Amino acid sequence: MNEGQRLDTLCIHAGQEPDPISGAVMTPIVLASTFVQDGPGAHKGYDYSRAGNPTRSALEGCLAALEGAKHGVAFGSGCAATSAILLSLAPGDHVLCGDDVYGGTFRIFDKVMKPWGLASTSLDFADLAKVEAAIRPSTKMIWLETPSNPMLKIFDIAAIAAIAKKAGAMFVVDNTFATPMLQRPLDLGATVAVHSTTKYLNGHSDVVGGAVLTNDDAIAERLHFLQKSVGGVPSPFDCYMVLRGLKTLGVRMRQHVASARTLAEHLSRHPQVERVFYPGLPSHPGHDVAARQMKGPGGMISFELAGGLAASTAFLKALRVFACAESLGGVESLAEHPAIMTHASLDPEARRALGIGDGLLRLSVGLEDVADLRDDLDRGFTAASSALKSR
Ligand SMILES: *Cc1c(COP(=O)(O)O)cnc(C)c1O
Repeated sequence: MNEGQRLDTLCIHAGQEPDPISGAVMTPIVLASTFVQDGPGAHKGYDYSRAGNPTRSALEGCLAALEGAKHGVAFGSGCAATSAILLSLAPGDHVLCGDDVYGGTFRIFDKVMKPWGLASTSLDFADLAKVEAAIRPSTKMIWLETPSNPMLKIFDIAAIAAIAKKAGAMFVVDNTFATPMLQRPLDLGATVAVHSTTKYLNGHSDVVGGAVLTNDDAIAERLHFLQKSVGGVPSPFDCYMVLRGLKTLGVRMRQHVASARTLAEHLSRHPQVERVFYPGLPSHPGHDVAARQMKGPGGMISFELAGGLAASTAFLKALRVFACAESLGGVESLAEHPAIMTHASLDPEARRALGIGDGLLRLSVGLEDVADLRDDLDRGFTAASSALKSR
């Protein structure tokens, strides 16, 4: 239907047709839980809204087109999407999982799926020889995030896809940080792309949602079955909200990237900053792979502030444009302290091993004027240095 169209066009039109009844150009929010049937079993494609809903179908079609996928399956949260993918495996199966995946994803592996019987190994996908060595006969899935969170490590999707293929394992890439505007995992050989639509895809910090995209008919059928059977479905209103947010995804991502580049350079020149983690900087170890597999390095930056917890606390408290909050990908800028906030569920040992220390801060660069964002960071630096002097 949208054959050959480019991403910015797909954001606005894919999966959506003017309403055949009224001609409304925007997708109606169909709140009905049930649909009339002409006779038993004779319906127009929808019988009950957990099994299928027209607003949800529009969202699924749009997200699938953006990821270059045949199938889209939407969920009520990124975690519900993740759980459905893992439930498509069987007890006794084994998964190789990135060692700095989203905290909630780690929690599903560790506290939900492990008791259920799913084995998993966490590792750093930078060392491909180690990845190959970690494959077991029971390894049915490889799961990773790139860029990762919060260290913004970059992993080579095509190289890991080759390992997964050889092992006969399904390869899942959580594409939440990059979005299909910047990276399309399925084009690079991944079997499945998963999203928290809560972040950039909706983009306005007013919905929690998730989605799974794939070209594999059998996997899609299984996920539709789990969507209907386990029931972690998004509301029609939330589907509409994400569709609305998606319309500006292209312009938003271009500005997120432009502003993040400017701020990453500013941070990398600042005397109070010990290290900046941003894939767009030539100093980033994943810079070349990012340049190859991404159309832009994204809108997330992490950095190590000198002075540890005292400095980072003063820094965050002084900010006036950046809000001190978890999450990411909205129009508004956010700053957070991973060790205390988003990554508190990791034990201190694991945090240290990943480099998540007391001076590490993570920024989600929003769409405010970048000069105001830079001034705000400088306000934070001034407060951090006074906090250290007054000790
Ligand atoms: C937020 C997030 C999730 C979980 O999504 P929810 O919508 O919060 O359930 C999964 N992966 C990544 C990379 C995320 O940032």
